[in-house]
Amino acid sequence: MNKSTRMTKQRRTILRVLKGTTVHPTADWIYEQVKKEISNISLGTIYRNLNVLSEMGLIQTLDYGSTYSRYDGNTNNHYHFRCIECDRIFDLQIDIFDKLNQNIEKETAFKVLEHRLEFKGVCSNCQNKN
Ligand code: ZN
Ligand code: MN
Repeated sequence: MNKSTRMTKQRRTILRVLKGTTVHPTADWIYEQVKKEISNISLGTIYRNLNVLSEMGLIQTLDYGSTYSRYDGNTNNHYHFRCIECDRIFDLQIDIFDKLNQNIEKETAFKVLEHRLEFKGVCSNCQNKN
């Protein structure tokens, strides 16, 4: 097995692991899962492949500023809610956002190509704890 083939297998495995979860995991979490199948893989390799997959548009990198990145295998247009207590990330599928770009274009002379919008607060689980 040559080096590029091995890379492809690693990349495929990372992609499958990420597509198989909705927890929006960290690179460390993905590393722990992939290691079960490819025991000699390194965390650095995980990061490199996540970057490549992200550039290829096959996954989403969720960048939360000072904290570590989280990854999403769902590349459909959707939004996220992050709980500041437990750090869990939830998907939001809300119709009102579908026409956001169009509405901005109606109000302005801009041609909108994309937008970023994220929500943070306290999830229902954590609200019940307090
Ligand atoms: Zn929470
Ligand atoms: Mn998501």
